[in-house]
Amino acid sequence: MLQQTTVATVKGYFSKFLNRWPTIKDLASASQDDLMQVWQGLGYYSRARNLHKTAKIITEDYQGIIPNSYAELIKLPGLGPYTAAALASIAFKEPIIAIDTNVNRVLCRLFAISTTSTTQKKQVQDIANQLAHAQHSDTLTQALMDIGSSFCKANTPKCHECFLKSSCLAFSKDIQNILPQKPAKPIRPKRYAHTFVMRYKNQVCIEKRPEKGLLAGLYQFPTSEFSDKPTTACYPASAQWQHIGTVRHIFSHFELELVVWETFIQKKSQGLWTTFNDLNNYGLPTMFRKALTYVKT
Ligand code: SF4
Repeated sequence: MLQQTTVATVKGYFSKFLNRWPTIKDLASASQDDLMQVWQGLGYYSRARNLHKTAKIITEDYQGIIPNSYAELIKLPGLGPYTAAALASIAFKEPIIAIDTNVNRVLCRLFAISTTSTTQKKQVQDIANQLAHAQHSDTLTQALMDIGSSFCKANTPKCHECFLKSSCLAFSKDIQNILPQKPAKPIRPKRYAHTFVMRYKNQVCIEKRPEKGLLAGLYQFPTSEFSDKPTTACYPASAQWQHIGTVRHIFSHFELELVVWETFIQKKSQGLWTTFNDLNNYGLPTMFRKALTYVKT
């Protein structure tokens, strides 16, 4: 849950999630709709889908017990090298170092690694592999994380207070403030779409998104495909449509401009209809919740 998300945001979701599904087995038997409904607003929905898939695999293939080696953990959906290594090291005492942003920064500075991207990654990994053979690599992983968050901070490293300063190459060369080198930030492309709030009395029409791709399995108001250029609205029903607002929403790899349209129809068309109050029972992604702020209910 904490991936790309702050503790303050996650707190409420975490308790709600654990109250609803206290065990891996409970989570494995949850429906995807229920899962998305509890997760709605937290974003990065693939995390929820991966947790669900992993809970099923652990229940069915591992008799409900989390596998205890990096080699097995890395096979589970949603577990990348960092999470698998952190679990293997800290929970199961495997001799492996988990490299998160803090650990990467500390190692880059301690060993004055000044290369970028792939080469940097490999050099840091090589050093971590050597360190992993030390005794208590779990404590070492946690210590490196703590040094990164308390002394070796990204913008203002507290070198004079740091007990590693006598062996830190970056400090000795006074280059700690420029390490680690960061790759150039890719420009986030813009996409465009229209969403249509079609109302009948106190109800609104929604639809389920496809089971694969962006925001898979979540709900939305009828919405056009996302396009690289602004497009003309193609209304889902012939009626008097009114432009009521425009939502800007940032995804990790693009920015979306979503034009919000509203209409009141006299005769209910086919599709899934719900009251505005009951919308909370559906996993409605944040950008459609933003669209709702333009709707007078
Ligand atoms: S001396 Fe400075 S740069 Fe080196 S590890 Fe400590 S805080 Fe980081």
